[in-house]
Amino acid sequence: MNHIKIIKYAIVISAILSLTSCADTLIGDEGELDEAVFLNYRTKTDLELPFENEWFIGAGGKTILQNHHFIPHRHQRYAMDIIQLVDGKSFKGDGTKNEDHYCFGKRLNAPGNGKIVALENNIEDNVPGVLNTDQQLGNYIIIDHLNGEFSYLVHFKQQSIRVSVGDTVVKGQEVGKAGNSGNSTGPHLHYHLQTTADIHDGMGLPTQFNSYYANDVFIERGTPVQNQVVRKD
Ligand SMILES: [Zn+2]
Repeated sequence: MNHIKIIKYAIVISAILSLTSCADTLIGDEGELDEAVFLNYRTKTDLELPFENEWFIGAGGKTILQNHHFIPHRHQRYAMDIIQLVDGKSFKGDGTKNEDHYCFGKRLNAPGNGKIVALENNIEDNVPGVLNTDQQLGNYIIIDHLNGEFSYLVHFKQQSIRVSVGDTVVKGQEVGKAGNSGNSTGPHLHYHLQTTADIHDGMGLPTQFNSYYANDVFIERGTPVQNQVVRKD
């Protein structure tokens, strides 16, 4: 297949597989298919999964079939969209309210030590399915890990963020609640690691977490991928 066919195939597959995710893309630089320079990158920060209990990887991994983020923008190429499932569903009832979604309002933590360098806390949560394309990140925090790696946690619930710019955070510290703000089809956490604090100028980094379970198997160090159920302990 040529590249165009592969891209079309990936978009169809990701549309079929995705439950709740970022709508298409967040803002940022255009990427190129052959930018493979970071594929074997080893994360420097000691990272743990940024939540409590079990979550489901709706998108994540280093291939276009596992990860709808891979093609469009290089800064979030290795991003994950993460939700919670109960009996295979991400919401109860008809899912038309954020509160129907199991992850909405759930605690989110700093995945590693660092300093808060940017955040937004005042964007209204979307009605599920109605996207805010003007404020694509919605409510978010950016953590500078002080080693050239920056964590982006995106789409928080309005007014749920409990840290301030300049704060030092430690791994596992609560930073806010999962929400549905920004360019998001429904409540979920978007997480990615990149090389800068500027969403417009940076490269996405493959992200390895330490000490977690994927589908009940202990992983000493690894990258969660699409369709895995993951937990810290
Ligand atoms: Zn996303």
